[in-house]
Amino acid sequence: MQLRDAHPPRGRLAPSPTGRLHLGNAWAFLLAWLAARASGGKVVLRMEDIDPERSRPEYADEIMRDLRWLGLDWDEGPDAPGPCGPYEQSRRLERYAAALDALTAAGRVYPCFCTRKELRELASAPHAAPPPLAGDGSPAYPGTCRNLTPLQRDEQLRQGRKPALRLRCDEISLAFDDRVAGPQLHTLAQCGGDFALRRSDGVVAYQLAVVLDDIAMGISQVVRGDDILTSTPRQLFLYQLLNAAPPQYAHLPLVLDAQGERLAKRHQALTLAELRAAGVSSGAVVGYLAWRAGLQSAPHKRSAAELVPGFSFAPLPREAVVLPENIADILRGLG
Ligand code: GLU
Repeated sequence: MQLRDAHPPRGRLAPSPTGRLHLGNAWAFLLAWLAARASGGKVVLRMEDIDPERSRPEYADEIMRDLRWLGLDWDEGPDAPGPCGPYEQSRRLERYAAALDALTAAGRVYPCFCTRKELRELASAPHAAPPPLAGDGSPAYPGTCRNLTPLQRDEQLRQGRKPALRLRCDEISLAFDDRVAGPQLHTLAQCGGDFALRRSDGVVAYQLAVVLDDIAMGISQVVRGDDILTSTPRQLFLYQLLNAAPPQYAHLPLVLDAQGERLAKRHQALTLAELRAAGVSSGAVVGYLAWRAGLQSAPHKRSAAELVPGFSFAPLPREAVVLPENIADILRGLG
């Protein structure tokens, strides 16, 4: 597959303003920013506020403050107009609708009336052969609504059921060379089968929005957590359908708490806001994360800009980064 090979590259920071940034977000954004800046590239900040129920404008503001506190800047973004704006997904909805129309006209999209509950039950029906699991552990879509007749569809609509829209996927494998995770080859079925492009409540799915935006914003380098790795083949399939060149990918090992859990909202103590309030400096956060990324031999305080010249993905660990229990004390101790 022809890669989008822009020189200098265009990278992006794509936070979802659904909560405060924690050390795991800081890790991913620091490395995404370094990868772009180290090759003289541009950085685009895109607010992925597409889900009206979970996104909050106050989180978006706070995220921008936290990114700046970490020493990360951007050339284009919600507060830095550029040629590819707007840079908030909530302001790009008509673009997504137009692409969805085009995919529908090409016969690629079908309405799916299954509820989450039905999908869950299907996955756990005791006597049925269990459907394969998607890479993220959720049940793969078994294709229930793929071949409904027009009559069956009308009947569902008459009953007042609101459909999601799914993409009809081909039975193909997609390969890509990940700059951190190495060569990848996944079938679309392994990644969950026909996936949703629009939820039943009308909200456009992450997979579609992210690909359309990365194309429209000329993004040539995507650096993100490896929890999204199984989304990448689905996104590559969309690039094929949209006849666009995909970016280069780097999927990073995740940051976990001392118990081995992914960082989430309940990890209030590991948010940048909380650490800052506890007297931790941004230099300590950056220096510690750079050490865990293999970019310096000890967790000395550093600024993000100081790390640019020596940046490489090569020394990155291949396994998850587990934080020690007393991480806040360690960070405070770094000065
Ligand atoms: N907004 C997504 C997230 O916060 C980022 C997805 C991506 O980088 O593609 O998880």
